[in-house]
Amino acid sequence: MLKIVHYPDPVLLTTAKPLSDEDFDGDLEALVADMFETMEKAGGVGLAAPQIGISKRLFVMDVPQQDGARERHALINPEIVRIEGEQTGDEGCLSFPGLYQVVKREMRVIARARDVKGDEFELDVSELAARCILHETDHCDGIVFLDRMTPLKRELAKRKIKTLQKTGKWN
Ligand SMILES: [Zn+2]
Repeated sequence: MLKIVHYPDPVLLTTAKPLSDEDFDGDLEALVADMFETMEKAGGVGLAAPQIGISKRLFVMDVPQQDGARERHALINPEIVRIEGEQTGDEGCLSFPGLYQVVKREMRVIARARDVKGDEFELDVSELAARCILHETDHCDGIVFLDRMTPLKRELAKRKIKTLQKTGKWN
């Protein structure tokens, strides 16, 4: 299992670098497999490379759908192609253990990325899967969900973080 870095680690606040053609190899496949495993053990639905201290533009997601299917993908060099609508709901982040806060996001997202083999693909998703893609793509841009909160919610979240840090559950 990989170590998940917690806010305010600088890697979380840094714009990550795209992967180049030479990066698509066995090492990348192993990294993606480790990221899926780490995400599952941590109980998350998404995990971006900066969250494990690697400043590269990639993330994994595994989001349950209402019909029982899952949106399980590795997105490498993700791009948001189109956004639509709006949703408001609680959001969490493995780099903010124990913190959940309301964040407004778009309802539907069309995203383009490369898979672990380097092939390009597109996803058209909504609700939690859309929220996940937006959240994880933000990580690739050095943006954390704190930055997406209203100023009031952000202040409340920062206070809660200080309390959580004192408990030692956050380092
Ligand atoms: Zn996150």
